[in-house]
Amino acid sequence: MADGPGLRTSIYCAGCKHACKGCHNPQSWDFKAGKEMDVEELLDIIKADDLSDVTFSGGDPFYQVEAFTQLARRIKEETTKTIWCWTGFTLEEIQADAHLAQMLPYLDVLVDGPFILEQRDTDLLFRGSPNQRIIYLHGAPPEDIIPGTVALEPLR
Ligand code: SF4
Repeated sequence: MADGPGLRTSIYCAGCKHACKGCHNPQSWDFKAGKEMDVEELLDIIKADDLSDVTFSGGDPFYQVEAFTQLARRIKEETTKTIWCWTGFTLEEIQADAHLAQMLPYLDVLVDGPFILEQRDTDLLFRGSPNQRIIYLHGAPPEDIIPGTVALEPLR
């Protein structure tokens, strides 16, 4: 319930190189940590829960962009669930790199940018510092608008 609006199945991936000072989850930096799982296994877990939408977090899912793109595409093709994804990259960095950008068409919301300890604000929803943005990549449902939200024109 903390990883986006409503009930969500959250997938915490292993591995992050952003090394933000004050990171809430430094144990997730290790790419060898965690349990290896394939796309089918994750999809089965996600589909078994009728009520929950999906969150990708970590770690940073964009360091495993091929696999998370496959998973996101299957979620979009086979369910009506929304996908929120947290990343330490900015949207502009992702858009400038075709390899990273392959996942964007399948995500509903990107919460972007590194955590900046000096700007830490515990009043922010779903973010640690105000440089991080909640970006609806394909337009935002009005009922979901959260202060600080950025809604882009539909990309899909
Ligand atoms: S991007 Fe997230 S997981 Fe990675 S170091 Fe920064 S706060 Fe930690």
